[in-house]
Amino acid sequence: KAWLSVMYGCNNFCTYCIVPYVRGRERSRQPGDIRREVEELIEKGYKDITLLGQNVNSYGKDLELDVDFADLLKMLSELPGDFVLRFMTSHPKDASKKLFDTMAASPKIAKHIHLPFQAGNDRVLRAMNRRYTAEQYLSLVRYARQVMPEIVLTSDVIVGFPGETDEEFEDTLKLVETVGYDALFTFIFSPREGTPAAEMPDPYTRQEKQARFDRLLDLQNRISQEKHNAYVGRTFRVLIDGADGEMLTARTDGGRLVRLKGDTGLIGSFQEVVITGNTTWSLVGERKEN
Ligand code: SF4
Repeated sequence: KAWLSVMYGCNNFCTYCIVPYVRGRERSRQPGDIRREVEELIEKGYKDITLLGQNVNSYGKDLELDVDFADLLKMLSELPGDFVLRFMTSHPKDASKKLFDTMAASPKIAKHIHLPFQAGNDRVLRAMNRRYTAEQYLSLVRYARQVMPEIVLTSDVIVGFPGETDEEFEDTLKLVETVGYDALFTFIFSPREGTPAAEMPDPYTRQEKQARFDRLLDLQNRISQEKHNAYVGRTFRVLIDGADGEMLTARTDGGRLVRLKGDTGLIGSFQEVVITGNTTWSLVGERKEN
C-alpha cells in the first residue's frame, strides 16, 4: 500500500479546524509529477494507492492548467497495471457529479468515498462554516448511489459543537439513519486554540455531549452490523494486506476489513473471497480456490 500527497494545505477555514492556519493555503502538485510517482509505485509492485489531500476535491484550482481532481483520477486510473486507487479527504462542497461519474467508470478506482458531513443540522453546519446544507449533502449521496449502487460510504461527525442543542443533534442522528454509513468516525467537539469555534459559547456539559455520543455510537453500530450481515454469502475481490495472529487480513474495494485463513505468501495479492461471517467491525471470509 502506498500513500501520496497530491496537494497540501486548505482554504476552507471550518471554524473548528486549525489546519489552514498551520498548513497554509491549498497548493496542488503538478499532474505530471503525480503521474510519474504513481507509475513508479506501480512498477515497484504497490497495489493499493491512496491520493491524499485535506480537500482533494479542490485539486487543480490553484494550477494554471485546466485540470480538476476527477481529471487527475481518470488519468491515473488509465495507467497499466493491477492496482486500486483511493483518495481522501473529500469536502462535500467540492464533490461533483463528474467525480462520481469518473469513479463509476473505472474498475481501478475503489468504490468508496469518505465524505465528512460533521453535523446534520443546517444552523450548526453554518456555524462550522461547512458551506453545504444537509439536503445538498444528501443529494450528493443519492447521486453517488445512483451511479455506484455498491459504493461504501464513510464519514466524520462532530458531536457537541458549541451551542448544538439536543434538537439539532437529532438531525445528525436522522442523517446517519438516512444515509446508512458503513462506518463513522465520531468525535466529541474539542476546542482548538486560535480557531473561532474555541471562542463560541458552549453551554452543554461534557456528560450531555457524552450521552449524545453514546446514542450515535449505538445507532452506527446497529447500522454497521446490518451492513456487515448483508455481505455474508457474497464474493469480493480483496487485497491481502497482512496477518493478525493466525488470520490473514484483507480489504475489500470499499475498504472493509476481512479476516481469513491462508498462507502468508498470499500477502500482497488480490484474491476472490466469499464472506462467511461478520462482527460489527470486520468480516470473515474464505478464499475461493481458482
Ligand atoms: Fe480544511 Fe478539512 Fe480543516 Fe475544513 S476540516 S478547514 S476542509 S482541513
